[in-house]
Amino acid sequence: MNHADSGHKTANQTDLEQPFSSLPLRESLLKNISSLGYETMTPIQVQSLPIMLKGEDVIAKAKTGSGKTAAFGLSLLNHLNAENFAVQALILCPTRELAEQVSQALRRLARLMPNVKILNLSGGIPMKPQLDSLRHGAHIIVGTPGRVLKHLGKETLSLHKLQTLVLDEADRMLDMGFLDDIKEIVSACPKRRQTLLFSATYPDEIKKLSKQFMQHPKEVFVEASHTQHDIEQRFYEVSTQANKFPLLKALLLHYKPSSTLIFCNTKQQTAELSDKLVEAGFSSLALNGDMEQAERHQVIIRFANQSCSILVATDVAARGLDIKELPAVINYEIAFDHDVHIHRIGRTGRAGNKGLALSITIPSDAPRVCLIEENLSHPIVWGNMSELTNSDSTTFQPDMVTVCLDVGKKDKIRPGDILGALTKDGNLPGDAIGKIDIAVLCSYVAIHRNQVDKAYRYLQNGKLKGRKVNVKKLK
Ligand code: AMP
Repeated sequence: MNHADSGHKTANQTDLEQPFSSLPLRESLLKNISSLGYETMTPIQVQSLPIMLKGEDVIAKAKTGSGKTAAFGLSLLNHLNAENFAVQALILCPTRELAEQVSQALRRLARLMPNVKILNLSGGIPMKPQLDSLRHGAHIIVGTPGRVLKHLGKETLSLHKLQTLVLDEADRMLDMGFLDDIKEIVSACPKRRQTLLFSATYPDEIKKLSKQFMQHPKEVFVEASHTQHDIEQRFYEVSTQANKFPLLKALLLHYKPSSTLIFCNTKQQTAELSDKLVEAGFSSLALNGDMEQAERHQVIIRFANQSCSILVATDVAARGLDIKELPAVINYEIAFDHDVHIHRIGRTGRAGNKGLALSITIPSDAPRVCLIEENLSHPIVWGNMSELTNSDSTTFQPDMVTVCLDVGKKDKIRPGDILGALTKDGNLPGDAIGKIDIAVLCSYVAIHRNQVDKAYRYLQNGKLKGRKVNVKKLK
């Protein structure tokens, strides 16, 4: 990485124990931070918050899981004047999922600040409710570039009073071809503003972007130190593309990870590979940009609640996925860029858990593999297919099954209602119930495979909050 630009900072050990109270944050934010259980700042927060709070521009190389959302979120909430009903901050995100996660995170951070309106303007969602909400006014907009631009074009959104512009996952926005949209949005922002740029990687395009849009930005780099220590990385080579699938099956059957994220480089590959895995008897779903929002939402829920053990995704589609415990990542296709490789494998081995990152290569991947090796502190460890244990089983299934109910937030259903009904009235043991996700129109409940029929029978005949529900198992 080129650190030639002045003013960059990198995290070190002594940064790790700093409390938020050392910062000039408003009382309501400090109180909320401790109620959220954040005891000390993450390295990216230690490095970036003091600069952002002074109103300066910052470029931060940080990825999902680093605490970056709270970093920029706390800064812009600290600067916010809730009595001034104008858009004061805009956060641009590459995907709807990330925009949704960022708005939720900001709402959580702002929950002790009265009357702060945070609005999500993402594509793939009907315009009408967005227009209604905009008419009522908003302080903070989180959105995807295309949709934000659409509102600017219709003059339903004004950025004249904007103080802070955040470009989140800026590298992905460039990869997805949002550069022109971003330029147009920036031209609708006041010249005097704070611009914060967060990016998992730091290619030349990002440097160019920052020169265009930012004023004397300070650079903050937090190295992903855990990737070297907590992740077992192993490479395998097969002679042809066609030989990859038998190896993949052998790896899955040898390691039997409860959840595996498999990366491919194109949307088409994700769908084809996932279909092949299902045909071979595995539990797999694909995640790619061609899917409708509702379908993507359902796929992510099923993977996160462990009722689907394999998710096959592109880098773009996997952006913003926040899966707490991911035992394994498999590169079915090697990433084109070393930083992308590091970002992929950094999704396993988090929070003190051991991670497993397996890469399947063919001879023509050699230049990319060399690049990865150059950046490792030790030579690549090559695995041998013959050492993989031949288990008797030809496949394995996840522990959980998702049951979908046709009641959701609109019916004022809460997780406790479902849990209560299943354990008290339905007589299911509490540990048979996994994650419960409540969407607007429906709810998803993960239930242990050996209890799911009992739960299904109960839900078909019993009632939830006094009403009958339609229920189906997602397979
Ligand atoms: P992000 O990198 O923004 O996706 O955040 C990753 C996760 O870290 C989120 O679930 C945050 O709630 C959590 N988080 C952010 N800051 C802190 C902190 N200082 N201490 C503990 N958890 C944090």
